[in-house]
Amino acid sequence: MTEDRIVSPAKRSGDEDFAKMRPQSLADFTGQRTVCDNLKVFITSALTRGESLDHILLFGPPGLGKTTLAQIVAHELGVGFRATSAPMISKAGDLAAILTNLEKNDVLFIDEIHRLNPAIEEVLYAAMEDFQLDLIIGEGPAARSVRIDLQPFTLIGATTRSGLLTQPLRDRFGIPLRLDFYDPADLEKIVVRGAGVLKTAITPDGAREIARRSRGTPRVAGRLLKRVRDFAAFEGKKEIDMQIADKALKRLDVDNQGLDMMDRRYLMCIAQKYAGGPVGADTLAAALSEERDTIEEVIEPYLLQQGYLQRTPRGRMLTALGFKHLGLSAPTAVTEDLFAGNNG
Ligand code: ADP
Repeated sequence: MTEDRIVSPAKRSGDEDFAKMRPQSLADFTGQRTVCDNLKVFITSALTRGESLDHILLFGPPGLGKTTLAQIVAHELGVGFRATSAPMISKAGDLAAILTNLEKNDVLFIDEIHRLNPAIEEVLYAAMEDFQLDLIIGEGPAARSVRIDLQPFTLIGATTRSGLLTQPLRDRFGIPLRLDFYDPADLEKIVVRGAGVLKTAITPDGAREIARRSRGTPRVAGRLLKRVRDFAAFEGKKEIDMQIADKALKRLDVDNQGLDMMDRRYLMCIAQKYAGGPVGADTLAAALSEERDTIEEVIEPYLLQQGYLQRTPRGRMLTALGFKHLGLSAPTAVTEDLFAGNNG
């Protein structure tokens, strides 16, 4: 059910035509200033030395631009780009096929890198460190090991869960970069740019309304923009303004803070079934019939960042703000906790 959410930051069908909206260069990429400034330095340095750029780990919630940035890095380096995702590499041979096909200084992008199978991770270590591939060919007594030299390359790994990466793998990335949710001003620029790509007129307050309700996520902003455009066209409007944006988003069940049914169901579950928490992730997953991964990777990060939710060693707890958003009054304990937090 989470897959169908219009505000889900995870990729889903229908998102393909966003490719047109993808920025092609660092100068075109809105937001994530620190990350972009650092990348610019490392790219320039690699180009000056004529060497491959160090391996990069991009981490942060889905839909914030990890794939886009990886493509931009390849573009700025003027090298080839090859993308895959960890669950697609099931045997060492799959990885070997990809690595031996790379050309000098190419960028290899591996999405969901925390899902790599441990045997393949081992093979990747030597490839990342020495640009060599150690493979076992054959089985039993006939098995022999072969070493293949690779072209130098840059691995860009992306993950929504950097905590699940093994230490040896994490250590092999020279450049770890964290992406954060976008602020509304940056998202507004992204919406205006997206409307230009879609050849749709939009007023500044229309763009602001969509941006504000996009869960800090460019992928959601792009998706909401497309749906609001449909409503505007249906009503015969020449441009998207705040009024049509608000009307369309209400119809799509995205509330005025950008939360959808699933977010509210999650918050309501903690508030009503568990008296505001603390409650463990597994219990919540069972109560909501959702995967624990979905809850931790897709639903919770934004609610935490917005301060509706707190993670404590005993489990998830709703904050006073979370209760307020649901139109409920917070139990005294929550209000007291909040004051303790403010003073401490
Ligand atoms: P991730 O790999 O982190 O899940 P993507 O790179 O696939 O996210 O980005 C999701 C969508 O959001 C893409 O279609 C892209 O066009 C758009 N996008 C991401 N970051 C930006 C940005 N900074 N400016 C404009 N569009 C962006």
